[in-house]
Amino acid sequence: MTVNVLFAARKAAWESYEAPLRAALKAAGVKARLSVDLPAEEVDYIVYAPNSDLQDFAPFTRAKAVLNLWAGVEGIVKNPTLTQPLARMVDEEGLTQGMVEWVTGHVLRHHLGMDAHIVNPDHDWIEQAPPLARDRVVTILGLGTLGSACAEMLVRLGFQVRGWSRSGRKVENVACFRGQDGLEAALGGADIVVLLLPDTPATENVMSAHALSLIKRGGVIINPGRGPLIDDAALLSALDSGQVGHATLDVFRIEPLPRDHPYWAHPRVTVTPHIASETRTDSAARVIAENIRRGEAGEPFLHLVDRAAGY
Ligand code: NDP
Repeated sequence: MTVNVLFAARKAAWESYEAPLRAALKAAGVKARLSVDLPAEEVDYIVYAPNSDLQDFAPFTRAKAVLNLWAGVEGIVKNPTLTQPLARMVDEEGLTQGMVEWVTGHVLRHHLGMDAHIVNPDHDWIEQAPPLARDRVVTILGLGTLGSACAEMLVRLGFQVRGWSRSGRKVENVACFRGQDGLEAALGGADIVVLLLPDTPATENVMSAHALSLIKRGGVIINPGRGPLIDDAALLSALDSGQVGHATLDVFRIEPLPRDHPYWAHPRVTVTPHIASETRTDSAARVIAENIRRGEAGEPFLHLVDRAAGY
């Protein structure tokens, strides 16, 4: 039987995904009509990017699932017309690997104090060796697919790693916490904090003025999660007071970050333009194809989103 798969994303995404998706569907043994334009009532699966024009899912009466191309689902999870199951992207080979590399790189930058040597206009001979990783506490808020993979890598490098999640998820050799008290324990005295939480009502402003006051004075905030996780005014004030030594920010409440935003000009903020990691078409296409194969075989979908929890 042929399944009808609607690709609802921007033109550029279609251009890069069409061939890998066709190949992955074929390899998964799925006979599919894949198109950017299908009658709504004939669609079996919707491959979706939240920046596409499609916002009304009600006409897709036959659709068995909406398969999000992105890991973050804040752009679709609250859509009241969405009644179909929603799966998000978990792309271990591409997205997860990329995030592990980005987080590790930025943690090591701050751990090793690389900036002092890269930007040294007066040619000072700074004879100060950095401490070893075992002397640094790195706290990761969010121990899901991405946070736990980053935690495992940082443990391998020797850091003292702490993690915080909703359920208190366990990761080997990581001190794991949950709840408000757990958040305070996870942040207390941390040298570097990495934010890998989803954007939900419960995580907004998790890095509040109080939370920022708990980390070690001069500590570092690294945010590849989502902009709303941080109270921006509180962070700027903590940077100005020296409580936070540096912030490396990849995600923002408004993207692109407006040119006149204080983050751009702040000497102790590094802005990266939401490039920490991205879904790679070949591996992501395989994830999508596998979920369609499962749907057709009557098997449970992978990576289903908990609509009530918002992620
Ligand atoms: P997961 O859903 O796998 O993990 C989310 C983690 O956050 C889980 O550990 C979860 O807890 C925890 N969490 C959620 N809500 C709360 C809460 N209220 N209190 C405490 N912990 C909470 O997501 P991923 O790891 O795949 O992705 C994380 C985020 O990274 C994405 O939502 C997205 O925003 C961002 N991202 C950014 C990219 C970039 O390029 N900058 C690229 C890809 C993703 P529990 O384990 O108990 O469920």
